[in-house]
Amino acid sequence: MRLIRDIYAQRAAERRPVVSFEVFPPKTEEGDHNLLEKTIPALLQARSDYCSVTYGAGGSTREKTLMLVEQMTRRHQLTALAHLTCVNHTREQVGELLDRIQALGCRNILALRGDPPNGAEFSTTPGGFEYAAQLVEFARARGDFSVGVAGFPEGHIACKPGKFVDWRHLQTKVEAGADFIITQLFFDNADFFEFRDHLARAGVRVPIVPGVISILSATQIRRFTQLCGAKIPPALGARLAQLEHDDAAAAEFGIEYASQQCRELLAAGVPGLHFYSLNKSASTLRVLRNLGLS
Ligand SMILES: Cc1cc2nc3c(=O)[nH]c(=O)nc-3n(C[C@H](O)[C@H](O)[C@H](O)COP(=O)(O)OP(=O)(O)OC[C@H]3O[C@@H](n4cnc5c(N)ncnc54)[C@H](O)[C@@H]3O)c2cc1C
Repeated sequence: MRLIRDIYAQRAAERRPVVSFEVFPPKTEEGDHNLLEKTIPALLQARSDYCSVTYGAGGSTREKTLMLVEQMTRRHQLTALAHLTCVNHTREQVGELLDRIQALGCRNILALRGDPPNGAEFSTTPGGFEYAAQLVEFARARGDFSVGVAGFPEGHIACKPGKFVDWRHLQTKVEAGADFIITQLFFDNADFFEFRDHLARAGVRVPIVPGVISILSATQIRRFTQLCGAKIPPALGARLAQLEHDDAAAAEFGIEYASQQCRELLAAGVPGLHFYSLNKSASTLRVLRNLGLS
């Protein structure tokens, strides 16, 4: 098990991008089997540096998240990044979770505030954390964790004063001890470059890693972007409208779009690429092959 901050430092010295993936805890045994026996081994064959596991709204997947972290770490010998959120948790509960994660052989945490289940508005649990920045500080004090945080190139959907205020809040997370930033998905690289350059001017020196998705279907990506507030640029929206009823063609187009997006990001010197794999390996592997990274 390696600390993710060390992976970014090593790859930067080698001038090679870090390749990582996000998976989520499946709801069924068949889903578990597919993820552990097919998807993760397939992604491992590509040159992947670490894999992150999401934490379901309000802690709903706690045990599953921990099980996947353990399987990746112990069985697949893959560096895992455990997502952890503040929703419905007291500090004491978060502390116990951090100890359990460490006992599984993982010392990499993505510290998030999280969203409550069913689209409810976030409220602080008595004895818990109000913002992710407090969780960052808490995790760093609890053990030798490498801690990542979420960043939003278009601004966080709930930050009403706008993206510049949200980016100031992101800086607070870095000041609290975050080692790296993984972004929300986006489709216009100009948004990412503005975000990255703004943070660099503000003195942020940690790796800022673009989160990339290879679209699988028009309906699905519309749902995702509505939930997270990312925009679909007009040209992309028009193309997706043509592929509305043809998911296979939408997935092919998604591979081309993501490959092009990643080429431009790599040319602009990003420290790595974090793929929202959606627990499937085929599209991500094709993108990596197109980039010569597989
Ligand atoms: C890479 C990535 C992975 C994710 N994984 C998960 C997951 O596994 N599980 C899950 O439930 N969700 C996940 N999310 C979603 C995330 O939890 C939500 O977007 C959540 O609403 C914000 O989390 P945050 O950590 O950015 O919160 P914060 O950084 O706490 O920010 C939340 C809001 O509060 C504002 N804010 C922050 N600090 C202050 C302050 N001091 N004063 C006033 N306002 C402030 C911010 O601008 C923002 O609007 C993920 C998101 C990303 C980008």
